Amino acid sequence: MESSFKEPIFITRPLLPTLENVTSKMSEVWESKWLTNNGIQHQRLENELKTYLNVKHLSLFTNGTLALLLGLKALDLKGDVITTPFTFPATVQALDWNNLTPVFCDINPKTLTIDATKIESLITDKTSAILGVHVFGNPCDVEKIQSIADKYQLKVIYDGAHTFGTKINNKPISSFGDMTMFSFHATKLFNTVEGGALAFKDKELAEKLNLLKNFGLSGPEEVVMSGLNAKMNEVQAAVGLEVLKIVDAERQKRHIIKKTYEQNLAHLPGIRVLTTLENENSSYQYFVIEIDEKKYGKSRDWIHEELKKYNVFTRKYFYPLCSDFHWYQHLDSVQPGNLIEAQKSVKQVLSMPYYGELDTESVVKICRILDELQVFNLDVIQKNDKVLF
Ligand SMILES: *Cc1c(COP(=O)(O)O)cnc(C)c1O
Repeated sequence: MESSFKEPIFITRPLLPTLENVTSKMSEVWESKWLTNNGIQHQRLENELKTYLNVKHLSLFTNGTLALLLGLKALDLKGDVITTPFTFPATVQALDWNNLTPVFCDINPKTLTIDATKIESLITDKTSAILGVHVFGNPCDVEKIQSIADKYQLKVIYDGAHTFGTKINNKPISSFGDMTMFSFHATKLFNTVEGGALAFKDKELAEKLNLLKNFGLSGPEEVVMSGLNAKMNEVQAAVGLEVLKIVDAERQKRHIIKKTYEQNLAHLPGIRVLTTLENENSSYQYFVIEIDEKKYGKSRDWIHEELKKYNVFTRKYFYPLCSDFHWYQHLDSVQPGNLIEAQKSVKQVLSMPYYGELDTESVVKICRILDELQVFNLDVIQKNDKVLF
């Protein structure tokens, strides 16, 4: 029997620069006496991220949710937006705050992203946009989505909270669609403690976004639109500049951890590792498995609970489905039969511990526990068989 871990193993740990490096950045901020409103650190981070992410137009925000919320606002959308139920609540809440109605589309069970082949049948004269989510770093079917959007003249927005630095055929993820949101929350691959950004195509939007995130103030005495306060401050930006220096090393470590998981889980029936496609540079945001209860012998929920006894803490991202929120129950798109794949996947996926500092030995041990839990279960089946005969 595998023993339990002495210290708890969490799903993730924030990527932290050394305290010395952060302190030295903080002295710069303190000396400048410029704490927010497009300060020096903010300008530097914006420029460095433009280069790192290979985007022309980028705007920083307090967090990813406000970036998405104001991005949708800047596009001046109306009516319905086709989106996925399999996402973090922030995606659809950004629609709510813009008085936009989500129309939930089923997902592709392989990538867990919106099923592009099912979008067209949901389009009506009220539809103004498609909001896709690159789930766990797996990009949506960006080509197909764009061709539908072109045909019906819809805007395309992506929640790319999980796709920091992802590329498809060497093209940056944000080159697809009109707008891509990134989240820099502490749990994301790249973090600014809390933070976020929008990458966008239309350079005219830059000024509008600047106004929207700063109370609509065009000058000290002029307010030209109703905005919000969603500015990234200098402390966040300064931390981000230090985290950016170590993000590539983190990505490499996560690549090795992913390989270790894959090698040690390959022989286990009923466990599928969510793979990224061949032509992608993954963001290594999450390591996710899917448990087929019939083949493994036990459910995802059972494994999630059982692992806690070993001091291993996993997460059922994204449970519950957004289409199950009580305030959407009147919508046609949430009625039974429309979201079959999403309802199936949401019961099977489990995000495993995944961060650069997680050592190989621990990963192997977690896989052995999963192995052992299954062997134990087969024993039970065999014993039952004996009882039966
Ligand atoms: C983290 C996350 C968000 C929210 O980003 P914040 O920066 O925490 O506001 C939105 N969508 C998805 C898919 C996320 O994982």
